[in-house]
Amino acid sequence: MGAYFDNSATTRPCPEAVQAVVEAMTEVWGNPSSLHRLGIEAEKRVSEARRSVAEPLGADPDRIFFTAGGTEADNWAIFSTAKRMQKRGRHIVTTAIEHHAVLNPMRELEAQGFEVTYLRPDREGRITVDDLRAALRKDTVLVSVMAANNEVGSVMPVGAMAKLTHRLAPSALFHTDAVQAFLKLPLRVSALEADLISISSHKVHGPKGAGALYIRKGLSLPPYLYGGGQERGYRSGTEAVPAILGFGAACAAASADLRAELAEEERLKNMLIEGLSAIPGVQIVGAHEAPHIVSFAIPGVRSQGLINCLQDQEVYVSAGSACAKGHRSHVLEAMGIDPALIDGSVRASLSRFTTEAEVGQLVDAVREAAERLR
Ligand code: PLP
Repeated sequence: MGAYFDNSATTRPCPEAVQAVVEAMTEVWGNPSSLHRLGIEAEKRVSEARRSVAEPLGADPDRIFFTAGGTEADNWAIFSTAKRMQKRGRHIVTTAIEHHAVLNPMRELEAQGFEVTYLRPDREGRITVDDLRAALRKDTVLVSVMAANNEVGSVMPVGAMAKLTHRLAPSALFHTDAVQAFLKLPLRVSALEADLISISSHKVHGPKGAGALYIRKGLSLPPYLYGGGQERGYRSGTEAVPAILGFGAACAAASADLRAELAEEERLKNMLIEGLSAIPGVQIVGAHEAPHIVSFAIPGVRSQGLINCLQDQEVYVSAGSACAKGHRSHVLEAMGIDPALIDGSVRASLSRFTTEAEVGQLVDAVREAAERLR
């Protein structure tokens, strides 16, 4: 398969997740709402998956609501909060470096008359507690700040931000898009104090088509989908049992030795940064604080050229955000990065399956590409 460094776009499903999906499609294929044996077994397995997803967050499984992915969790958190809170105020705070799953719902709310403040990052892609403090108002009803940025790996102090929000804008809910932080950074709901947390299965070696929204105990939001009342009335529709069981299996497989795995990922990331930095002309872009994301560029070389050249050597990276194909990265623009550097930037993202040999392969391939393309 070559060396895969596009794990922030999606990860290779782990064997445990694949097995769970196959089982769900061959054995546990009943409808969890059915009252016979097949349905009861499916319902039991969905509950087990809910526990496995809740465990790394230290959350009560009853507060985990399955969705079709991170995008749906973000949309649900944002639109339902706006709907619930609009009588109290119509001011929202977010950041200019969010994923489009947050930014585009914000644009839609602006069209509906909400006022949105977009916090600007520094040149490394960081946003501080003081930036948030300056933006909070009495009529702020929602703060949405991502836990780790998907393009440059900067990490936001979301725990301190949630506390500040609750102190200075007591009506406001705090949401964090933790799609790139889940199972990568310590995220315990007790320490985090977030009201809403979005996560996604396919970023953590689970199948596509599943994600979850954590909703703090005692908080009730308007349902996202109306219908048969699944997910305790919040998100109707027959549960996507194969995707949910795969998500649960991926979480269970990861949390067994998470600390050691993340330490190894961090070591390989640092090795990659060291290797890339030693290549003449290569520039590292942004903070790369998360254990799995490194953004870099060769000035004068466009990202698609570099991606193609690396691909010829069976090394796979992506240009900025894979979700914003063809557009100049709004994250790097907000960071004030020179447009020539933005146009050449690529992202290498690791996972617990990344090996030292693959890191070496990537560094060698970039060295060769730098010589050939410049
Ligand atoms: N939020 C962030 C930070 C992401 O990186 C992504 C995907 O890249 C999403 C949300 C969307 O998640 P999904 O692909 O599960 O809809």
